[in-house]
Amino acid sequence: MQVTRIEQFGWRGAVEPGIGRVVSSHGDYYHLVCNETGGEIIARKKKSAWKPPAGGDKRVAVSSAALRETGGFVRTARPVRSETPEALSPITGDFVRFRYNPHGESLITEVLPRRSHFERKDPTAKRKAQTLAVNFDTIFIMMSLNEDFSTARIDRYLTLAEDMGDAEAVVVVTKADLRQDGDEEFINDLAETVDARAKIISISAFTGEGMESVLEYVKPGRTVAFIGSSGVGKSTLLNTLAGEEWAATQEIQEWSGKGRHTTTSRDLSMLPSGAMVIDTPGIREIGMIGETDEVRAKGSASHRWRK
Ligand code: GDP
Repeated sequence: MQVTRIEQFGWRGAVEPGIGRVVSSHGDYYHLVCNETGGEIIARKKKSAWKPPAGGDKRVAVSSAALRETGGFVRTARPVRSETPEALSPITGDFVRFRYNPHGESLITEVLPRRSHFERKDPTAKRKAQTLAVNFDTIFIMMSLNEDFSTARIDRYLTLAEDMGDAEAVVVVTKADLRQDGDEEFINDLAETVDARAKIISISAFTGEGMESVLEYVKPGRTVAFIGSSGVGKSTLLNTLAGEEWAATQEIQEWSGKGRHTTTSRDLSMLPSGAMVIDTPGIREIGMIGETDEVRAKGSASHRWRK
């Protein structure tokens, strides 16, 4: 049986017309891959239609006629406890329904239920949660083996991961080539903190250490989300996985001059192997909620192995 494009991009539901996956977003415009129109489309989110329904998390039943009329948004996902109203807006990685308009703007009408989502939350609940990645099979929680190392942060990420839905968390310790004498103690500390909540793998993009463990998760049709501070080596790992064909693919994807290389962009990329990677913006670049202590501590030697 032939696998359609949307299925190659990880869709596991019934294959119907008008289903797309968001691979990048640019303001109100979204780049979708889909089975129609040559495999991709730019669709717009109608601003007024994306106000959360009254009552926030409730399921809203709207007839398809009403939907057509309003071009509006109807939330069919089962409410998830941690979801906040802004999570209703599509983000990279989302599967959406769109209404194709060959003569003008195509419109996204619905965000389909997310099988997984990773959100960071403000522990004091003063600020809204922010959804960083959706619809991944695996989330790589990345931390490098240098001053970025903080078992406390990994603990926090894993706590957030408890609510993420149907996906697996893997702690990826990067830059293993920087290992120094005495680091064993800290690696053991990390193992204790992580305990049975996730697998831990150590990698080095420079020596190739651990790459075979990474490849276990990077499979056709599967999506891996990378999360971690800026500078941990997310792009380097992505480039390593992508190999030589990558540069060419990137050029093709430069369909818009803006967005792609900005620090806050989050793109879904298909690797030559058929696996997908969602690269989230570096946590510090966009201000980690509840992370201000660590922003201050960055670069201070005393912080290195602080728990
Ligand atoms: P990102 O911000 O998470 O995407 O991080 P980058 O991939 O841009 O990497 C940040 C810096 O770390 C760069 O200078 C990389 O060359 C370096 N780096 C990445 N991977 C490794 C590694 O395995 N070992 C060492 N020593 N440095 C690395």
